[in-house]
Amino acid sequence: MECTKCHKVKPFDEFSYKNDKEKIYYMYCDMCKIKYYCEEEKYKERAIQEYNTRKLLNTIKCECGIEYVCFRDFHMLRHLNSKKHKKNIIHYNIDENEEK
Ligand SMILES: [Zn+2]
Ligand SMILES: [Zn+2]
Repeated sequence: MECTKCHKVKPFDEFSYKNDKEKIYYMYCDMCKIKYYCEEEKYKERAIQEYNTRKLLNTIKCECGIEYVCFRDFHMLRHLNSKKHKKNIIHYNIDENEEK
C-alpha cells in the first residue's frame, strides 16, 4: 500500500488499523503517523506559547484599576460589561467626587 504522506509503497504491517472491526487502514504508514502526531504536539505547544505571549502583550489596565487581557473587541466589551468593572468605576467616581 502506498502511504499518502511519504508516498512510499510499504507492506501492510507498517500500517495500523484506523478501524479495527472493519479492517480499515490508515492512509499513511506508522512512521508518518508518529511524525504527524509529533508535529501536531509541537504545533499545539507553539500555539499555547503564542497565546501566552499575546496575552502578556495585550494586557490592558483599565481605568477601573483592573488589568485584563484584550486582543479581541469582545474581550473589552466583556470587561466593560462586567460587574467588577461597573462596581470599580462607581467607586472610582465617588472617590474623585469626594476629593473635590
Ligand atoms: Zn509514510
Ligand atoms: Zn474596567
